[in-house]
Amino acid sequence: MTSTLIANIGELVTCDASLGDGSALGILRDAALVIDEGVVTWVGAATDAPAADEIVDAEGGCVVPGFVDSHTHLVFAGERSAEFAARMAGASYTGGGIATTVAATRAASTAQLRSAAARRFDEMTASGTTTLEAKSGYGLTVADEARLLELSGEFTAETTFLGAHVVPPEYVHNRGAYVDLVCGEMLAACAPHARWIDAFCDLGAFDADETRRVLRAGVAAGLMPRLHGNQLAHGSGALVAAEFDAASVDHCNHLLDSDIDALAAAGVAATLLPAADFCARTPYPDARRLLDAGITVALATDCNPGTSYVTSMPFVIALAVRELGMTPAEALWAATAGGAKALRRADVGTLSVGARADLVVLDAPSYVHLAYRPGSNPTAQVFRRGVRVSSGPR
Ligand SMILES: [Zn+2]
Repeated sequence: MTSTLIANIGELVTCDASLGDGSALGILRDAALVIDEGVVTWVGAATDAPAADEIVDAEGGCVVPGFVDSHTHLVFAGERSAEFAARMAGASYTGGGIATTVAATRAASTAQLRSAAARRFDEMTASGTTTLEAKSGYGLTVADEARLLELSGEFTAETTFLGAHVVPPEYVHNRGAYVDLVCGEMLAACAPHARWIDAFCDLGAFDADETRRVLRAGVAAGLMPRLHGNQLAHGSGALVAAEFDAASVDHCNHLLDSDIDALAAAGVAATLLPAADFCARTPYPDARRLLDAGITVALATDCNPGTSYVTSMPFVIALAVRELGMTPAEALWAATAGGAKALRRADVGTLSVGARADLVVLDAPSYVHLAYRPGSNPTAQVFRRGVRVSSGPR
């Protein structure tokens, strides 16, 4: 493999505080970076750059780590624009629309699911995402959940079994039997294709005890826990996540001080999904409160057809700055290094020497443009494992 020098970088954001200006973003000006064998092998001043086989000219632009989208529902069929229109006309979100996507997903062929997921994956890549997590949860039968996870595995190693997304229509009068299925036969079929176990612990979804059963079974099958929690109402999601040493609890719109204390004490990351609140027109979480408590905050798209048909991490960064009270620096860190922590990954999310060479060359002088120019895609080039996977917006 040939080495590549990314030259002429006006502003290099490493998200490694031991580099550059000493801030959490570890910024170097007039910098260069060398990639070899898919890994960052050198970072420093442009004037000191070593020779390489190939040179990529960043044209004085900013380079940031590739985005880590740690919460997506990548594989599904159908769309729910009518439900979105109804909600914008005043209907409220209850989570019931998930059944619509479950029906469409069960009816779709594997080839249809694969090509729809590939289109979304390409959109994510074109806006700078180089690592993503993908959940099941729209099959809700043993065969369909396993099928969604096998498909997810074609796009990412970060696959999450979410059989406990909602109780499917055929089990609404027999919830206990559905939880038994999730913890038994469905888990057995899905665990070989999954790295994580997840549940939607919220009003109208699964309660604390059901969630505990699912997480306990998942952990026993070798999966690591993460949770959807505290989105629709105050509930037990955050506390259960802390109890299980989950990597992350996601949404976090409704938290009491005691939840925040528990997350901080257990070292659970809080993944905020402001595009879901934007699209569902629901109140945003309070990022400031989490940051002030020392909790690791991650940002993700929650890409799904019901509440957040969003693939763009730059859009999420812009929302986090405008609506969650985060600074542009905090939002970029949360969308890269924060996402990596929420996935317990040490090899992505930063541009430290030894990190995977996942990076975005921006057509902008500063990372602040990610928040400053909402709706634009400032991505000029995207590299994953040192290979250019996108050259500019689609
Ligand atoms: Zn979700």
